[in-house]
Amino acid sequence: MSERFNVADIFGENVFNDTVMKERLPKNVYKNLRLTMDGKQELSKEDADVVANAMKDWAIEKGATHYTHWFQPLTGATAEKHDSFISAPKSNGKVLMEFSGKELIKGEPDASSFPSGGLRATFEARGYTAWDCTSPAFVREDAAGATLIIPTAFCSYTGEALDQKTPLLRSMDAINKEALRLVRLFGNTEATKVTPSVGAEQEYFIVDREKYLQRKDLVFSGRTLFGGMPPKGQELDDHYFGAIRERIAAYMKDVNKELWKLGVSAKTQHNEVAPAQHELAPIYAECNIATDNNQLTMEVMKKVAYRHGLVCLLHEKPFAGVNGSGKHNNWSMTTDNGVNLLDPGKTPHENIQFLLVLGCIMKAVDTHADLLRESASNVGNDHRLGANEAPPAIISMFLGEQLEDVVMQLIDKGDATSSIQKGKLKTGVKSLPDLAKDATDRNRTSPFAFTGNKFEFRMVGSADSIAPANVVLNTIVAESFKEVCDELEKAENLDMAIHDKIKELFTKYHRIVFNGNGYSDEWVAEAEKRGLPNIRNMVDAVSALTTDKAVKLFEEFGVFTKTELESRSEIKYEAYSKAINIEAKTMLDMAAKQIVPAVVSYSTEVANSALAVAEVGCDNSVQKELLADITTELKAVKEAQAKLSEAVCKAAKVTGAKEQAVFYRDVVKTAMDELRKPADKLEMLVDEEYWPFPQYEDLIFEV
Ligand code: ADP
Ligand code: MG
Repeated sequence: MSERFNVADIFGENVFNDTVMKERLPKNVYKNLRLTMDGKQELSKEDADVVANAMKDWAIEKGATHYTHWFQPLTGATAEKHDSFISAPKSNGKVLMEFSGKELIKGEPDASSFPSGGLRATFEARGYTAWDCTSPAFVREDAAGATLIIPTAFCSYTGEALDQKTPLLRSMDAINKEALRLVRLFGNTEATKVTPSVGAEQEYFIVDREKYLQRKDLVFSGRTLFGGMPPKGQELDDHYFGAIRERIAAYMKDVNKELWKLGVSAKTQHNEVAPAQHELAPIYAECNIATDNNQLTMEVMKKVAYRHGLVCLLHEKPFAGVNGSGKHNNWSMTTDNGVNLLDPGKTPHENIQFLLVLGCIMKAVDTHADLLRESASNVGNDHRLGANEAPPAIISMFLGEQLEDVVMQLIDKGDATSSIQKGKLKTGVKSLPDLAKDATDRNRTSPFAFTGNKFEFRMVGSADSIAPANVVLNTIVAESFKEVCDELEKAENLDMAIHDKIKELFTKYHRIVFNGNGYSDEWVAEAEKRGLPNIRNMVDAVSALTTDKAVKLFEEFGVFTKTELESRSEIKYEAYSKAINIEAKTMLDMAAKQIVPAVVSYSTEVANSALAVAEVGCDNSVQKELLADITTELKAVKEAQAKLSEAVCKAAKVTGAKEQAVFYRDVVKTAMDELRKPADKLEMLVDEEYWPFPQYEDLIFEV
C-alpha cells in the first residue's frame, strides 16, 4: 500500500508564506513587509533584522542548518551558495545560530563565474544577489539535510542584470504602471495594482536511469545523437492521456508531494503524445512566482526521478522521430480588485475594455513578433519549432470564431453588434448531461492562442526558463498600453476616441491573426505574403535582441539597457556554440569508441560465418551481401567522422560570437547529420546483441 497523506495538510508546509509571517512577525513589521512586497516602501534595517530572525527560527525548527540565496543566472539552471547559520564560537566554546537582515537582503557570489556576455571581466568579480521579497522563501529537504532557500535577483557591481529575475521584475513594474492607466480610462479607480498571471505547463520524458547511463549522448547533451526509430513510434496515439504506468505514477505522486510542500500547486498530470512523455501543470500564479515555481518544478522532477531509479529528460528533443517537449506559457493580467483584463465575458462585443486590450495585444505581438520568437529560442527548440509537432516558427495569433467575428464586424462595419453564442453540446445519450460549449474550439497549431480568458504562448522550450517570454510579453504590451493611453487620456470625447482606437488597432494589426492550420505549407506562403517574419533557427533569432526597435522598447521601460541586451545576445550565441560543440564531440567519441568497434566485431563474425559456410560447400551470398552493406556504411561513418572532426577544429578558431555560432549551425551541425545517417543505418544492420548502447525501443517503451 502506498503512503497516504492529506494534501491540504502538507500544502505549503515548507514555505515562509503569508500565514507564517502573520504568526511569527510583530504586527507592525508584518505590515511594513507587506507594503514592501507591494512595492510601496523600502524595508528598514531594523525590520529586516526582525524578518531574518523569524525566518531563521522557523527554518531551524524545520531542521535547516544552512541558508542560501537562490538565483537564476543565464546558464538555464539555478544557482546557490550555502552558508550555515552558525556564528563565530563564543569564549565558552559554544556557537549561536544567527541570521541578520543584512544577510537576508544581500549576498555576494562571484559574478565572473557566470555568463555575463562581456559585462564582467574575470578581474571584476563582484556581483550581488538581492532578496526578492515578492517570492516566498522556503525550506528544501533532501538527503543532504534541510536548507532555507531565499529567492534573489542577481546583478553586477555596476547594477547590470546578470539573471532572469531582474528584468522580469522590471517588466512587471512596466506593465503594472501602464495597465493601471488603461483601467482608469474605464473608471476603475479602485485597482492599485495589475499583475501578470502565468501558468506554465511542463512537458518531460522519463527514462530508466540504468539505461540512460549507458548513453553518453543523453548524459552529456541531454538528447540522443544517434538512434533509429523502433518499429512502433507514436503513430497509434495510444500514449496520449493513456493510463499512467505504476512506476511513473509512483514517481508523479512523489513529485507532487514535494511540490505541494514547497507551495507549488501541481494540479494536472497526464501522459503526453510520445511514449515516455508526460506533462505537469500547476495552477497559475503571479508571473514572478510562477517563474520561480517552474524552476523549482524542474529541479524537483529531476531529483525525485533519481530516487526512483529514473531520469527526467527536460531537453526539447531527446529522441528524433517522436514528439519533443515544450512549455505552454498561459498568460493574463489581473487587477488587485479582481478583474482579469483578458476575460471577454459572454458578450465580448459589449466589453469595450476587453476589446481595447485585445487590440493593444495584437499591435504588440505584430510589432514585436521577432522578440517573442527570440524569447523562445534555444538550441534544443530548433529541433521542434516549425517541425509539425510544435507551433511553426512564424508568430501569429489565434482568436477563435467568436472573437474573430467581433473583430471583423468592427473592421468591416465600424461597429460590433453581436457575439456568436454556442449553446449546448448534445451528447445524444439520455443519461449524459448536455454540456455547455466553449465559445471557441481549440487550435493546437497556433503559437499564441486565445484560450478563454488568457493567451497561451506555446513556443517556449521545455528546458528553458519562462522568464524571457514573460519579460517580452509584459514589456511589449506595456508599450502598446502606454501609446494608447498617451492618446486617449487627451481625448475630448473618450467613448468615441476609444471606439475609433479599437477599430484602428484591429484594422492595422489584423494581419497577425491566423485561425487556420499552422502546420500547413499554405500558411508559410500566406505568412510570407502578409510580411510576417519566419525566423527558422536560434542563431537567426538572436539579432532581434539588439535592433534599434528592441533597444528603444526595453530602454523606455527600464527593462534592459542596450549594454544588457548586447550581453544577452553574446551569451546566447556562446550557448549555442558550446552546446553544438559538446554534441559534436560526444558523437565523435561514441562513433570512435563504441559504434565502430561494435560494427567491426560484428563484421568479423559475419566474415567468419561466410568462410565457414563456404567451407562446407554452401551458398554464403547472404553473409557476403550483409558484409558488403555493413562495410559500405562503416566506410561512410569513417569519412563522416573525419569531416566532423575537421569541422570541430575549424569552429574553435572562428572569431566573433555570432560568426562562430553561424559556423556551428551551418558546418558542424551539417557534419553531425552526415555522421548520424550511416550510423543509424548500421544500427538496423547489426545484431542488437552487438550494439554498444540501449536503443530507442529500450529507452522509450520500457520504463
Ligand atoms: P489546457 O491548456 O490544457 O486547457 P488548463 O486550462 O488546465 O489547460 O490551463 C493550463 C494552465 O493555464 C494551467 O496552469 C492553468 O492554471 C493556467 N491558467 C488558467 N487560467 C489562467 C489565467 N487566467 N491566466 C493565466 N494562466 C491561467
Ligand atoms: Mg495548454
